[in-house]
Amino acid sequence: MAEYDAVVVGSGPNGLTAACVLASAGLSVLVVEAAPDLGGGLRSAELTLPGFTHDVCAAVHTLGCLSPVFHALDLETHGLRWVYPDASVAHPLEGAEAVIAYPDIERTVAQLAQDGGAYRGMLEPLLRAGEGLMGDVLSPLRFPRHPVAMARLGFYGFRSVEALANGRFHGARARALLAGCAAHSVLPLDRYLTAGVSLVFLLAAHMRPWPVAEGGSRSIANALCEAARSEGVSFETNVRIERFDQLPSARAVLFDLAPRQVATIAADQLPARYLRALTRYRMGPGVFKVDWALDGEIPWSARECRLASTVHVGGTIDEVARSENDAFEGRRSDRPFVLVAQQSHFDATRAPSGRHTGYGYCHVPAGFDGDMTDAIEAQVERFAPGFRDRILARHVRGPAQWERYNPSYVGGAITGGVADLKGFVARPALRLDPYSTPNRRLYMCSHSTPPGGGVHGMCGLHAARSALRRVFGLGLGGLGKRLAQPHDCQIGLVSRRS
Ligand SMILES: Cc1cc2nc3c(=O)[nH]c(=O)nc-3n(C[C@H](O)[C@H](O)[C@H](O)COP(=O)(O)OP(=O)(O)OC[C@H]3O[C@@H](n4cnc5c(N)ncnc54)[C@H](O)[C@@H]3O)c2cc1C
Repeated sequence: MAEYDAVVVGSGPNGLTAACVLASAGLSVLVVEAAPDLGGGLRSAELTLPGFTHDVCAAVHTLGCLSPVFHALDLETHGLRWVYPDASVAHPLEGAEAVIAYPDIERTVAQLAQDGGAYRGMLEPLLRAGEGLMGDVLSPLRFPRHPVAMARLGFYGFRSVEALANGRFHGARARALLAGCAAHSVLPLDRYLTAGVSLVFLLAAHMRPWPVAEGGSRSIANALCEAARSEGVSFETNVRIERFDQLPSARAVLFDLAPRQVATIAADQLPARYLRALTRYRMGPGVFKVDWALDGEIPWSARECRLASTVHVGGTIDEVARSENDAFEGRRSDRPFVLVAQQSHFDATRAPSGRHTGYGYCHVPAGFDGDMTDAIEAQVERFAPGFRDRILARHVRGPAQWERYNPSYVGGAITGGVADLKGFVARPALRLDPYSTPNRRLYMCSHSTPPGGGVHGMCGLHAARSALRRVFGLGLGGLGKRLAQPHDCQIGLVSRRS
């Protein structure tokens, strides 16, 4: 007899969510994790100086705060508190200017001059369908529940962001705002679907200002672990699975891992053709990240940048496009597009009084072994003169260190694989049910399955649902009812630092 009904390998947000879903259906579940602590991309640590809490990986929870499954698991009752900034994202431009995505769409429109009407005309109808549309976006490919809104999103979003921004807008502000949001795709900005990524991030920005988690992103992992423990899930840490026979016996195994890892671990459990697809799966560029302990806020020339949890540092759409293209084509960018997060502006637990944490990363070629510290800091200094003088200490991590830190970050890639057209329909391989494998007992639940990268747990939900149905003949039970309930997008703001 099997020791467990299900074993989940890897404790990232998707693995933990899958464990919660399986256990809430009454199954016995074990999570095995290679690292000494749980949480995958949801860890926080004092990387620089005592008293400074840095998010090691994910920092800003654009999709997490809108995730239907996080809502259904009621993570707030397990101690999670989202902290909402005044604005989601700021994008500084030359001349002490910036364009800001405020939750209030009219306030955003007001900055866009001649492009305001076109922005409103594009975003407002999507926003009206916001919650339902987001549910469709965060699902595997299927007939949408909100076909009209999805068709509208598809109409604007299928094309490249360069085509959308340069075709519909005339000013540098709107174009830069769209480009910065599209760069989260880690794709060159002339690729199909990059406009869609940009629109999803902007839609989210107008639903709830992109939050951080009080106490650090580890609070999300803690809440997921609490939810899992309350359903009876067991955990084993410091167990790195490299061969299938290391796993305890179970009726189902769910891998919260990169496809290539699964191809190695389950080489004798899967047919050659599927193994080939997993081995050839493209992970895309890596990241180079710097965390700073700062003796004060980042001194943005455009003061309003301090209102946002995220600052897109890279200048005009053409500059952002050049940088993203460089990373994708295997070149180092001299002027990288940098994603900056400023959690301590909103969450006083992150740094000693009067001091701040800073977080910035850029995309680099897969496996890049150079140092981007100077280039990243020069970009921030360009829009915030005096920034370097505020650095008390820094912590740096490039692709090789990322892969050592988490073997799922193959080549330093952090979002589960290339999200272009091919990666959209064959994630990780072309199958009607992308979470299943040709072996009925084995499932993929990581961000290398739909809907892809980011902290939202939805890959874990869909994979667990697939395993429940195929192996155990079960549905989601009570959790299914909670998932169907509307999920109010206005929730109380917790106390802010400034
Ligand atoms: C620098 C950085 C910044 C990011 N910023 C954001 C952000 O701001 N917002 C956002 O939403 N997302 C962000 N992300 C992406 C986000 O963290 C990931 O998409 C998310 O964590 C994926 O979750 P997962 O459960 O699929 O996998 P992971 O979080 O990668 O978890 C996989 C787990 O499996 C474990 N593991 C690996 N190999 C083995 C093995 N052989 N045996 C056992 N265990 C194993 C790992 O240790 C890890 O704990 C960022 C990521 C990074 C690295």
